[in-house]
Amino acid sequence: MADRPSEGKTLKEQFWDPVAGFGVTFRTMFKKVVTEQYPFEKMPTAPRFHGRHQLNRWPDGLEKCVGCELCAWACPADAIYVEGASNTDDERFSPGERYGRVYQINYLRCILCGLCIEACPTRALTMTNEYELADDNRADLIYEKSDLLAPLLPGMEQPPHPMRLGADEGDYYRGAYAVSPKETGTVAATGEAS
Ligand code: SF4
Ligand code: SF4
Repeated sequence: MADRPSEGKTLKEQFWDPVAGFGVTFRTMFKKVVTEQYPFEKMPTAPRFHGRHQLNRWPDGLEKCVGCELCAWACPADAIYVEGASNTDDERFSPGERYGRVYQINYLRCILCGLCIEACPTRALTMTNEYELADDNRADLIYEKSDLLAPLLPGMEQPPHPMRLGADEGDYYRGAYAVSPKETGTVAATGEAS
């Protein structure tokens, strides 16, 4: 005949231990709920969270990217593709000699490590706090320049257009603007992310 479950057990083991197991449940019932209701409620990220990239602009709207490809070379996942082209007097996209004609980031490869933004010599490339980078097909996870460019803020003009902030490239890179930053917006007003 099989042993009955209570045989050989102390009173504590028979009556207290099964109830004690619920102790954690009861204690938790009165604690603050930590469950996040994502995607209905989005919690803020840490300020320096590495999210989607952004291609920044100067306060007049010209692009900071000069198409140098340093970000692409720094990327350990080979996630960035850049094709530079030359600015002309009639068609200028950046204050530099060249600009990024094609700029793509493949978020199927990117590991959001941030090495690319460290490599960028003009602070053209930074990362935002945006983390919703999922999609239902592969093609839409290759972000084009148009997806990455910072929005035009008040006072900015859609390139191509001549340099508005100084006589030459040096004025831009040294920050010696001919127009007061108050009139055109500060660096923060360019929408540059950390
Ligand atoms: S964050 Fe890292 S993996 Fe992503 S594009 Fe930049 S360097 Fe490449
Ligand atoms: S984002 Fe920066 S590093 Fe990359 S091509 Fe443009 S200027 Fe060069």
